[in-house]
Amino acid sequence: MAIDADPPAWLVQSRANRTGKKPVWIQLSCSVCGYSEAVRPKKWWPAFTYLSCDDHSPSDLPIESAGLVRREIDGIGSRFVGIVDEQAPSIAGENQGESDRM
Ligand SMILES: [Zn+2]
Repeated sequence: MAIDADPPAWLVQSRANRTGKKPVWIQLSCSVCGYSEAVRPKKWWPAFTYLSCDDHSPSDLPIESAGLVRREIDGIGSRFVGIVDEQAPSIAGENQGESDRM
């Protein structure tokens, strides 16, 4: 019997299951209609200011505060768009219209 050399599928499966960590689930809720869904968060997700189903209009959400820039990230969960309001980069060195002329 050489079961280790050529393990049947059920044995490979049961070994793989043993190493699995407990998945972490978070609850996403739509800021517009309240639809909510449990998902496994992705590593690359930023901190969302709002979440919205992808079939809502952006105007259904509160507008961003002054000085913030809104970013939308598609493909969150099965139907969400993630909204991130971030500090706008300050525009330094605005042209003063003053230059030295010889
Ligand atoms: Zn919704």
